[in-house]
Amino acid sequence: MADQDRKTQIDRRTFLVRGGQATAAVALVSSLPAFVRAEGASTSTLPYPFTLGIASGEPLSTAVVIWTRLAPAPQEPRGGMPERPELVYWQVARDEHFRVIERWGVSYAKPERGHTVHVDVRGLEPARTYFYRFWAAGHMSPVGRTRTAPGWGALPSEVRFAFASCQHFEQGFYTAYKHMAEEDLHFVAFLGDYIYEGVPTSGRPRRHDDGEPDTLEAYRRRYATYKSDPHLQAAHARFAWIVTPDDHEVDNDYSDEIPQDPQLQPRDAFLARRAAAYQAYWEHMPLRAFSEPSGPDIQLYRRLGYGQLLDLHVLDTRQYRSVTKPCGAAQAPICEALLDPTRTILGDAQERWLLDGLGRSRARWNVLAQQVPFAFTDMGQGEQVEVRQDKWDAYPVARQRIVDFIAERKPQNPIVLTGDLHNAWVTLLKRDHRDPDSQTLGAEFIGTSITSGGDGTEQTATAPTVIAKNPQVLFNSNLRGYVSCSVSPRSWTSHYRVVPYVTTEGAPLETRASFVVEDGDPEAYKA
Ligand code: FE
Ligand code: CA
Repeated sequence: MADQDRKTQIDRRTFLVRGGQATAAVALVSSLPAFVRAEGASTSTLPYPFTLGIASGEPLSTAVVIWTRLAPAPQEPRGGMPERPELVYWQVARDEHFRVIERWGVSYAKPERGHTVHVDVRGLEPARTYFYRFWAAGHMSPVGRTRTAPGWGALPSEVRFAFASCQHFEQGFYTAYKHMAEEDLHFVAFLGDYIYEGVPTSGRPRRHDDGEPDTLEAYRRRYATYKSDPHLQAAHARFAWIVTPDDHEVDNDYSDEIPQDPQLQPRDAFLARRAAAYQAYWEHMPLRAFSEPSGPDIQLYRRLGYGQLLDLHVLDTRQYRSVTKPCGAAQAPICEALLDPTRTILGDAQERWLLDGLGRSRARWNVLAQQVPFAFTDMGQGEQVEVRQDKWDAYPVARQRIVDFIAERKPQNPIVLTGDLHNAWVTLLKRDHRDPDSQTLGAEFIGTSITSGGDGTEQTATAPTVIAKNPQVLFNSNLRGYVSCSVSPRSWTSHYRVVPYVTTEGAPLETRASFVVEDGDPEAYKA
């Protein structure tokens, strides 16, 4: 062994074993192998670049994605990074002190990906907690914790996770995440509205960075604003996340190629904007490489399993949907256009994929992790039936195909998890929503928001009428928060965790209600 090779090996071992020491890490940089130098990556020292935290996601039984972005000055162009790739080292260990390094490697933070890093760490053991960290430009990142899923054949006695949505930065503080990070969870599911694209508005507790984004650089800046929050960073650092976007990651209420204001934004301009928004979303989320967008297209619907206990069918209800509000208003009586059988919310390919997956699933619980309310709900405040024209209620024929499939093929214990509404509901999914005596097929748990809507109230103003008119609707809360779920082979429990206020910091956490579903019995009961 040549002396230089020996030195390289020793230096590398020094970093791997005692990576917390910058001197050892710098020694490794000075002896980088030739293939790393050939890429033209810089190893210069920059100001502290991990200002937006770290994250992990997409847990499989032997792999997990770890993420970071280098952004020494998050609101500056390119986050304050030079226009060149930067080397990033990463390590995965079994202990938070990194005494035993399980996996390590080198990646690049490239300018064309906003200097983000997505490492798909493979060869891990099932159902195990791991710790990870990054090193770049002379700095060590905070330590993140993550967890792999159980192996395919395992039936874990319990899986705990939280789901959340709708974290408008201006409308409040992320106190809910501070509390969530103190729970002992296996993962977090985020169901949309990670950012809001709105302009800065005065009189709110916090403020957006700039005008409405429609370029990649502007969306990146918006993510930088959101991801600067310490409680959000803590929830990412503590758990693996499984994410799917809703509308505000692109444009309020868009559907497929149609923006909120089609008269102001022609199709081509909106598709360019959608491409920028999807690119920024992928860059900032701990997603796998298959979700990296190609122009205005992004692959988000996917399936993640927790052994034989849980199949998560993660849906994308925005990218392929037919136009919203076919009857005119946002809430309206059911009109002829609504019943058009060609209307779709998933698109043909995703709908086939979902039914195929539900048909083949062997999991005890089949979870649709998705954006907008699924079960029928009559929102009319008078005698007349009225439905919301941008939820599944606006795609009744497409929904009935899924409902009929569930009734006939009987995938075990269907559960729908939903974001979007900014207040919490529990609703039962009926075989025929016009007949309250028809078979119950499963429960839908609609979460509230982390902050969107600002400080809440006990119930929405319309909730008493909605509950009176809809026997399938069991519960409403209009307080901010998240839902913490505990799932065993025998039962599912959803705890509605709420904070009494978000416009000032420091709110305590309360459990407003808990609902239980037993294996084999689709009804939900208040615990
Ligand atoms: Fe929202
Ligand atoms: Ca939304």
